[in-house]
Amino acid sequence: MGHFPNLPPPDLCHVRTCDRKRCYSGLEMMSQPIQPKLIIHGGAGSSLSGKGSVEIVRQSLHRVIEDVYELLQNGASAPDAVVRGCQLLEDDPLFNAGTGSVLQSDGQIRMSASLMDGTSLRFSGVINVSRVQNPIDLAKKLQPEQDRVLSDFGATEFAREIGVPIYDPKTEKRLKEWWYEHTDNFHRKMADVVAEPAGRGTIGVVALDAEGRIAAGTSTGGKGFERIGRVSDSAMPAGNYANDRSGVSCTGIGEDIIEECLAAKIVVRVTDGMSLVQAMERSFAEAESHNRDFGAISLDATGSIVWGKTSDVILAAFHNGDRIGDSLEAEKGTKVVRC
Ligand code: ASP
Repeated sequence: MGHFPNLPPPDLCHVRTCDRKRCYSGLEMMSQPIQPKLIIHGGAGSSLSGKGSVEIVRQSLHRVIEDVYELLQNGASAPDAVVRGCQLLEDDPLFNAGTGSVLQSDGQIRMSASLMDGTSLRFSGVINVSRVQNPIDLAKKLQPEQDRVLSDFGATEFAREIGVPIYDPKTEKRLKEWWYEHTDNFHRKMADVVAEPAGRGTIGVVALDAEGRIAAGTSTGGKGFERIGRVSDSAMPAGNYANDRSGVSCTGIGEDIIEECLAAKIVVRVTDGMSLVQAMERSFAEAESHNRDFGAISLDATGSIVWGKTSDVILAAFHNGDRIGDSLEAEKGTKVVRC
């Protein structure tokens, strides 16, 4: 399948991007097949050493990449591929989303997830929802609704209204971790994600489909041990955003992500003419100067795939059409890498 050539910068478009066909008709871009692209993450944090663990995480991430990339090759839309990728990652107890979510300070699990369809420009999500298996499914169901972001009680009521079964996402490991921290009066900054201290295991997926549509999804159990009512970045445009030019999903300290308005900022920079890699480099240079602790995955309509981090590791994997790769053995420290 051919590669989607570079899109013109916005100022070369004579017709707004909502009419993609006419916008690029001069370049006859629609007659060319678009090669789907995919990037996913399983969080960012301080270390992967000692997990036996690079291989365990790699296997999990690559399996999801293989399944979801196949869907994209078979014509799945970007939002559908993103939802499937998020479901698979939520169902994997290795990651802090869905099954395996961390417990909050009161011992309860409250999860947040969002879905952004870059073509319709619709953002939907749930904040601090309890007792469901796949919070991303609720975000998907909320896409056509008038009220598209629901929090705790309302989100749970919506889940019951549409018949989502009650599910306990708690695992033995998370319960023990909470009990241990509880006896230590929650001295740690965050819960473990995969096994190491101060890691984070939120999940995210960004996809470009064969029709050139982009979508982003993010799902989290939060930071772990947090105050009741704390709101994560994962169901905000700061943590998850896309339009018809690019898409971004973030992970790491939610407060840092919100204060940088990271996902929306990167997408706006690309929309205004920066290349994706420039937008990521600028945003991560700013983040480093502000001592932020997070990571982000991104792709754009030209087929560029880029990840970035200020934290020591980001658990990202991608399919660029030719091969599967990942970020698991990247050097520590701030980095922006085009895949
Ligand atoms: N961003 C998430 C939060 O702050 C945590 C994470 O990415 O692991 O809730």
